[in-house]
Amino acid sequence: MNPDYDVIVVGGGPAGSTAATVVAMRGHRVLLLERDTFPRYQIGESLLPATVHGLCRILGVTDEVARAGFTLKRGGTMRWGRGPEPWQFSFASSPRLPEPTSTAFQVERARFDEILLRNAHRTGVDVREGSPVRRVVEDGERVRGVEYTEPDGTAHTAYARFVIDASGNTSRIHGQVGGRRVYSDFFRNLAVFGYFAGGRRLPEPNSGNIFCAAFDNGWLWYIPLRDDLTSVGAVISPDNASAVQHDPRAAWQSMIQACPEVSRLLVDVPAATEPPYDRVRVRKDYSYWKNSFWQPGMALVGDAACFVDPVLSSGVHLATYGALLAARSVNASLAGDVPEERAFVEFQTRYRREYGVFYEFLMAFYDMQSDERSYFWSAKKVSKVDLTEAAAFAELAGGLVSGDMAVRPEQFGERWRAVADDLDGAVGRLATADDRVNPLVTSQVVGETFRAGNDLQDLALYGVPVEASVPGGLVLAKDGLAWTRVD
Ligand code: FAD
Repeated sequence: MNPDYDVIVVGGGPAGSTAATVVAMRGHRVLLLERDTFPRYQIGESLLPATVHGLCRILGVTDEVARAGFTLKRGGTMRWGRGPEPWQFSFASSPRLPEPTSTAFQVERARFDEILLRNAHRTGVDVREGSPVRRVVEDGERVRGVEYTEPDGTAHTAYARFVIDASGNTSRIHGQVGGRRVYSDFFRNLAVFGYFAGGRRLPEPNSGNIFCAAFDNGWLWYIPLRDDLTSVGAVISPDNASAVQHDPRAAWQSMIQACPEVSRLLVDVPAATEPPYDRVRVRKDYSYWKNSFWQPGMALVGDAACFVDPVLSSGVHLATYGALLAARSVNASLAGDVPEERAFVEFQTRYRREYGVFYEFLMAFYDMQSDERSYFWSAKKVSKVDLTEAAAFAELAGGLVSGDMAVRPEQFGERWRAVADDLDGAVGRLATADDRVNPLVTSQVVGETFRAGNDLQDLALYGVPVEASVPGGLVLAKDGLAWTRVD
């Protein structure tokens, strides 16, 4: 049977738009099915440089995003750890983020996500909004397509060589791959969040920073979205669940009052009344992963695959980077350059490694008895980059640890295609086992211990050490949109 499409992407958030666009850029036939009609609300407003200067450039939306007037973010301001004073990290501390790429944006997701979705349509993706997918069609051998409902209520089935589930944390079809979600034992927090119609700003040059402030029950984020709009959320332990469930708005307000560093920025500022910012919302059970991210004919990306705690704003980065990896594997398979299984092992391995770096670092970051120097050291230990500790933190917090050309802004512009081979070497080096040893540590014994620790971490998370599953390693095609084989 000749399928209707090469790829069906389920969900039009950042992950879905990225996957669909990158496959369509290779001239393939892509259907994207989105349940809602855009613009639609979503949380996850603080972006990383890797997304803004890496992924957005690949997708061809850098200028459009820059013109949208989002708040410029230079880094983060943290009241975090045992010291009472706030401290800063700046993306500019990373040597791989020269001006003007050492920045990201704080975005209204309804607007940002719509830019990506409309761009997917312009690139040739058949985008259908108001079209929820109800289930996956498979025949015991592989996934073949999906059943969905059209806006007029008609049920329809579409067939494709690959289905990519990018339908987020509410995915109805992720169970087709890798069984149930595995919920983190460590990150069991819940979040209650809303908006203010204004709010004071941190002093320049940090006025656009995300501000994260710990308090007795957890921590608060403070994200300046517009002069007249600030996103404020509390991340708290599940012990507070009943108060939050009883009256989310009252619980949200009392958390803000309990944190003087944030409440003083909001004195006399009213809560927002414009939709969709007039509601206080709650999210829980958001830190999870799947034991597998793919099966023949289907892959999971974005929140459908995994997410971990929002404090480093890694969600959209992980979603778009994972989607790019999946799209490269689809493109490589469709071109016949790499067997499907090999291509998707590459996707899964790189995606797990990126998730694992954030997961491992965040565990150290939640130790409130530490100070920023020790957080910086942990960033260096986990990321294994050959940089100062503060720069390692900036790399990690900027989404650059993978070393992938897609998220290394300084390599873009006119030069980027020409240097693809060099960059590819860098990615290849990252994929070797030796790079998993902490470069801070020269002793082989201690290095081996770290390596074993990493393998244990991988074992705990995924059931196998990640490196063990990558014999060889694929390299990027010249256009950065697919893998090719190393001979
Ligand atoms: P989504 O953005 O959820 O998109 C999925 C899409 O699929 C939606 O449009 C949905 O309508 C559609 N869909 C769902 N079901 C179906 C169906 N059956 N058929 C068709 N379509 C369907 N990330 C950051 O980067 N920065 C932050 O500051 C940040 N803060 C966060 C704070 C909290 C409290 C939480 C919980 C998360 C935060 N995140 C943050 C994470 C971020 O929200 C997600 O990682 C990101 O939105 C994932 O993108 P996605 O494309 O995978 O999914």
